[in-house]
Parts: sequence; structure tokens; C-alpha cells
Amino acid sequence: MAETRKTKSKDSKRPRSARKAAAVEKATKSAAGDISLLQEKITSLTAINRQLKRKIFDLYTIFEISRNFNAVLDYHTLLDSFILTSLAQVTASKAAIFLEPGANAGVFVIAKHKGSGRFPTSKLAFRSNSELVKYLARLNRPVQVQEIIQSHALGDERRILEDFIPGLLVPLVSQSRLSGIFAIAEKMSGRDFQMDDVEFMSILGNQISVAIENARLYESEQLTARQLRATQEQLVQSERLAALGDMSAKVAHEINNPLGIIKNYLLLIRRAADGDEQIDDYVEVVGDEIDRMARIVSELMDFHRPGGESFQRVDLGTILEDVLRLMERKIASNDIELIRGFGLNPVHVNAAPDNLKQVFINLVINACDAMPHGGRLALKLHHEANVVRLEVCDTGPGIPPEIIPRIFEPFFTTKEPGRGTGLGLSVCYGLIKKHHGTITYRNIETGGCFEIILPTAKDDNGD
Ligand code: ADP
Repeated sequence: MAETRKTKSKDSKRPRSARKAAAVEKATKSAAGDISLLQEKITSLTAINRQLKRKIFDLYTIFEISRNFNAVLDYHTLLDSFILTSLAQVTASKAAIFLEPGANAGVFVIAKHKGSGRFPTSKLAFRSNSELVKYLARLNRPVQVQEIIQSHALGDERRILEDFIPGLLVPLVSQSRLSGIFAIAEKMSGRDFQMDDVEFMSILGNQISVAIENARLYESEQLTARQLRATQEQLVQSERLAALGDMSAKVAHEINNPLGIIKNYLLLIRRAADGDEQIDDYVEVVGDEIDRMARIVSELMDFHRPGGESFQRVDLGTILEDVLRLMERKIASNDIELIRGFGLNPVHVNAAPDNLKQVFINLVINACDAMPHGGRLALKLHHEANVVRLEVCDTGPGIPPEIIPRIFEPFFTTKEPGRGTGLGLSVCYGLIKKHHGTITYRNIETGGCFEIILPTAKDDNGD
């Protein structure tokens, strides 16, 4: 207390101006301190402000991107644009999106990858029950690969990560379930991913999971709708062909009887002409035409013949060999090379052998007609579970797409009059249907292909 009084008295002895200067100096010092404090605050606020601005910008970008994603319903376009957007945003070299190839497939494989350098797609897969996948599903946020490698003893997945994806893994979670993994390789700068990158990918990952789910649903709905439409069209076509075939067969049946009578009377006329050459010539022309009519009628009736032939267990290869023997000369005279894709193992079906022979003969004749100056005719048998698939392919000009839907109609022909009746394929159609099979046509790059599918004989499935 005495000391204070002493100091005070000493201070009061200093001139007034000196006391004032000291006070000013003190105030200045404290103001300078305040200013530097303020400056620090301003600097930190500016940094926060910059961060906020970046966040707002990122959020706005994400908002825009997700809006675009949600508008894209095409699955592949969506994946492409997601990968490209992410690569641009986090400036990385390449990325891949892993999805399950089917519902509960148990494995995530590359659905799409983009960027410089390639992912060895066939080697990259993550099993759903692996440590890594379970960890990502639990974590539900992006994680640096290094972090996982250091903290987890991974099996095969470790090598995949080290070799090919030394970057960031983003779990894609939809309806609380891991629906995919987005893997980004290293940043172009070679530096680690920053917090901003991780946050950005975290939000984008959530958005894309939903968009992918929607696109998948949309795609599967589209597929179902397409399949339904195709089935309906097939049904309509098949009913139309069946009705046309039945009607033609009935007409043929009605014509068959008078045709027989005309033929008999022609014999009587020839006898009554008693060797008159002119009448004989006329009778011969009429006879030839009646034979032609009889052939057409007989073909037409095949469509409807109510299964009088006995069905038996037959080897398709043997039937094909019989047909090729019959057609040998025609094939050779057209300079056609024959490719045999059958005969190694017997393939049994329950069938009326003559019916099947007729079908194959019609197809081979058409193929020869389509290749008058040579080509290749390939007959291939594929034995699949419960069915056998026969392909008859030629290297002719194929069939214009607009007339393909009509080729199985009775009387549809593009051949010149007198060369084609337009009945061959409609008969094939009827006979194959009778055998509970299908016959279809498609153009291929090198020509055209008919495909026949027949059920295999009961005790012959799968061997
Ligand atoms: P046709 O042979 O008497 O014309 P089809 O019913 O057998 O009657 O065939 C109908 C039409 O289908 C043919 O006129 C032809 O236009 C087309 N066609 C059939 N097979 C082939 C083929 N292998 N290559 C090209 N066109 C074909």
C-alpha cells in the first residue's frame, strides 16, 4: 500500500504532457492489439465465408446434377454421366461403378467404367459377403482406400484395391441396402482426396443410388412391356397364320375330290380320242396342270392333316442326313458349300419323321433359291435343356425386313409366277407347330437364318 502511494506520488511529479503521452501510447498499444485481433477474426471469417461459398456452390451443383440425374431414365446414359461428372468434380483419372448384375447376384461387377487407362474388368469383382463390402455397407460414406487397407485384413479384395483402385470408394446405398460401389482411382494431381471431395461424393453417391434404382426399375418395366408386346404380336400372328392355314387346308380338301374326278375323266377323254395327236397334246397339257394343282393341294392339306402320322422317337441328325442326301444334287449344282454342324451326338425328338423331312427340304430349297450362284449353307444343331435348336443359315441376300412378318403366310411369295407357290414356309410353320415347336427367321450380317426350336424327347433331356 505504501509502495503504491509512493509510485503515485512519483507519477504525479512527472509533467502533465508526459503523462498524457504515456496514456496515448498505452491506448494505441491496446488499439493495435484489438486491430490485430480483429484482423485475425476477419481472416478466419473470410476463410469460413469462402468455405461456405464453396459449400453452397457444391450444394447447388449437386442439386443441379441430381435434378439432371433424376430426369435421365436411360440406365447407361445415367451411369456415363454420373462417372464423368464425378471425375470432373474431384479431378480424378478414372472411375468405375460396380453393381450386382441381377437381383441378389451375390457379387458386384463393373457395370461401367470411364477415364484414362483401363480397368481389367474381368478381374474386378467384389463378393457381397466379403469383409470389404460388409464394411462399406456399415460405413455408408466414402472412404479412402488407404484407410481401409491399413485398418482391415482383407482377402482377395486387398490386391484388387492396391493394384487398381488406390483412391476412394463410395458405397451406394438405396433403401438401407448396399446397391453398388463407386470406385475412383487416384487424383490427377497425385495428392490425397480432400474433405471437400469426400463430402461431395457422399452426397452425390446418395443421389445416384436412388436414380440408378429408378432407371433400373424403368428399364425392367420397359423390357416387360416390350416382351408383352412381342408376345401379343406373336400370338396374333400365330392365330392369323393358323386361321389362314386351316382355311387354305379346308379349301384344298374340297378341291381335292373334284380334282381326282377331273383326272379320271381326262383318262377317259384320252381313250375316247383314240390316238388323235392334237387331242392327246391338249390332254397332256391339262394333265400337267392338274398334277401341279394336285401338288399344291397336297401341300396345303399338310397344314391341316390331323396328325395321322405316327410320332416316334427319332434322331434329328439322321433326318437331316436323309434330307441332305435327297438335296445333294441341287446343292452341288448351285455351287453351294455345305457346313454340317450336327451329328456328333444323337439328338432325339418325338416327331413324325416325314413331316420334319418336308420342313427341312423346304428350307434347303429356299436357301438354294436364294443362292443361285453359290454361297454357304450351314445346318447347326444346338442341344439345350429340354429343347433342341436347329439353325438353317444361308449367305443369300436375306429378306427385306418389311416382308419378314409375311413370309409364313400361305401364298406369300416373291418368286416369279410358276416358280413359287408361297406355300413352303406356311407348311413348315404348320408342321413345326404340330410338333409343339417354333420356327422363326432373322437376317444376319452374312445372309439369313431360320431357327427351329423343338422339345427334346422326354428321356433325352440335357444329354
Ligand atoms: P416360295 O418358296 O414358294 O416363294 P415359301 O413360303 O417357301 O414360298 O417362301 C416365301 C418367301 O419367303 C419366298 O418367296 C422368299 O421371298 C422368302 N424366303 C424364304 N426363304 C428364304 C431364304 N432362305 N432367303 C431369302 N428369302 C427367302
